[in-house]
Amino acid sequence: MRPAAGKAKARTAKGNPGRMRQLIAGNWKMHGLAAQLDEIAAIRDGHTRHADILICPPATLLSRAAAIGGIAIGGQDCRAEISGAFTGDVSAEMLADAGAAAVILGHSERRQYHGERDNDVTQKAKAAWRAGLLAIICVGETEAEREAGHMLDIVARQIAGSVPDAATAQNTAIAYEPVWAIGTGRTPTAQQIAQMHAHIRVLLTSRFAAGSDMRILYGGSVKPSNAREILSIANVDGALVGGASLKAGDFLAIAAHALPRS
Ligand code: PEP
Repeated sequence: MRPAAGKAKARTAKGNPGRMRQLIAGNWKMHGLAAQLDEIAAIRDGHTRHADILICPPATLLSRAAAIGGIAIGGQDCRAEISGAFTGDVSAEMLADAGAAAVILGHSERRQYHGERDNDVTQKAKAAWRAGLLAIICVGETEAEREAGHMLDIVARQIAGSVPDAATAQNTAIAYEPVWAIGTGRTPTAQQIAQMHAHIRVLLTSRFAAGSDMRILYGGSVKPSNAREILSIANVDGALVGGASLKAGDFLAIAAHALPRS
């Protein structure tokens, strides 16, 4: 889950110096009953281990998924408070208690359907750290924002507002997920991904001591057929995968395209 320690060295493909093992994370969203736990076991068994992998099932499956063992499990959201009268919500401590190592925060579906704002995401990220979880903080522009040419400003504003000052490469990863690419089968061009990830890298290095080591994941319609190209783009340190993470075969085919790094 954590960036591998060790010396920087040249990437084997077109990417950046290879300090970070790529992270391939699966977001199951509101999919999955007990019968689907077999997919997690199959991912664990089929993984070639040159990248880090993480599966974020619904909260109802977390502890059973963690009990499978040998594979990192994460939540899809948490509340900032430790406990309290917040019916239906789950705290970061509860996720950790169920066996989670990470949590996705600020996903565009949370921002859209639950009205989450950047400051909410910041508070949740601090809660995640308090519980010892990796915070995977999602940012990304809408189609209208891209068409208006505002995508770089939008993502800069989201990172400024959603990522707390104490972020490190160990406690935080950024997921760039253009809203218009999520679940649509559409993806940005390699040039568009490269431009945005380079932009995010500059934002991170200018603000955080560990900004050059923080993982920046790409998310939005990643599938076996486009994973090789996406994962070889500079500053792409992994992928956040939605629909294609539900089947072990698809997820493993994506993970197999991760760049081997020490
Ligand atoms: C997501 O929901 O984070 C996502 C990237 O979904 P999909 O891969 O299905 O576009």
